[in-house]
Amino acid sequence: MKQIDILIIGAGISGAVLAERYASIGKKVLIIEKRNHIAGNCYDYIDKNGILVSKYGAHLFHTNEELVWKYVNIFSQWYPWEHKVIAHVDNKMVPVPVNITTVNRLFGSNITTEDEMKGWLNENRTPIENPKNGEEAVLNKIGPILYDKMFKHYTKKQWDKFPIELDASVLERIPVRTNYDDRYFSDTYQALPKGGYTQLFENILKHHNIDILLETDYFDVKDQYSGYEKLFYTGPVDRFFEFKHSLTEKLEYRSINFVSETVDAPFFQENSVVNYPGMEVDFTRIIEYKHFGNQISDKTTIVREFTVDEGEPYYPVPNPRNEMIYSQYKTEADKLLDVHFVGRLANYKYFNMDQAFKNALDLFSELETEITQKTAV
Ligand code: FAD
Repeated sequence: MKQIDILIIGAGISGAVLAERYASIGKKVLIIEKRNHIAGNCYDYIDKNGILVSKYGAHLFHTNEELVWKYVNIFSQWYPWEHKVIAHVDNKMVPVPVNITTVNRLFGSNITTEDEMKGWLNENRTPIENPKNGEEAVLNKIGPILYDKMFKHYTKKQWDKFPIELDASVLERIPVRTNYDDRYFSDTYQALPKGGYTQLFENILKHHNIDILLETDYFDVKDQYSGYEKLFYTGPVDRFFEFKHSLTEKLEYRSINFVSETVDAPFFQENSVVNYPGMEVDFTRIIEYKHFGNQISDKTTIVREFTVDEGEPYYPVPNPRNEMIYSQYKTEADKLLDVHFVGRLANYKYFNMDQAFKNALDLFSELETEITQKTAV
């Protein structure tokens, strides 16, 4: 068997970055990935309509981290893309996050300045000093009318819980704009990779020191590998410990059922993403991939997203039960000095892509600095 210095489980952002960093200092790296492709949840491909689509939901890159922005630019060219989201409310299309246009369209008002918008919010919001749950957090920001139209049922569809049943932290950070800014994110860098994410990952992993074993579950083959210096594990933390701390079952996740459809028309909707926050349909949003990068094709592909309990693990469910179970795994994980638990599944935490890049880059620097310091002593 070939020599392996570094064994990495998972070819998503966390695994790919660590593989590239270690390969660059001469280490022989093997990545074991259970899916039949690299790129983790960022994986995209050209579909039958000739449109670049993401298999696991639209991925919009945005960051304020110079380090991350410089790193991703080594491996791909990027084009600027300021993401916008529209919501279908009361049969009207309104911008999300809530801004002046949202309020004017929904209520027929004629707000034109920031002061007027702040005044509208002050008149409509329900001030609550220390919101105890998600409902109070939203009422405190925007009041009952917008809460009902845009958050109450959307949250129920997304989490299978009403905001009142969720921690305040889940909804406390919803952005509300007092101007006309209709960008979904406000980070300094907002862009998409020119050739798509899969190509970005191919470039990150293109190194003679990196081997990749696809369609292989680490737990089916782990006894075949030994003698490596370090193991980086980016899969679910509870699976690593064979679920031994869960009281009844696995750590909970929300998953998404992506239902794709070809529409025989140039376009289906006016924007890449349209949210459906109301009760009239049971999906949360429709993505029309053709809008990203203004792609050209005769037909169009739309994907409806239904949030469900079962399936691929996507969003950790922040509640006291899961936090308690995770803390027990974390204690075990911290004891294993040469196994590193990296990324969103291993830390049971939602990461944006830039955070996943940053964590992996920081971990590599940290571990390599430790080695340099030990050698110097
Ligand atoms: P992953 O990408 O999940 O990689 C982990 C890999 O490990 C997977 O490929 C998995 O198959 C593999 N694996 C697991 N267990 C095993 C095993 N036993 N053996 C072998 N392999 C294994 N972020 C943004 O910044 N912008 C967005 O617009 C955005 N949209 C998102 C939309 C959705 C629906 C979701 C779920 C996430 C979104 N994200 C977005 C977050 C982004 O997907 C994550 O930041 C990123 O995927 C984290 O990378 P990772 O390496 O930690 O995990």
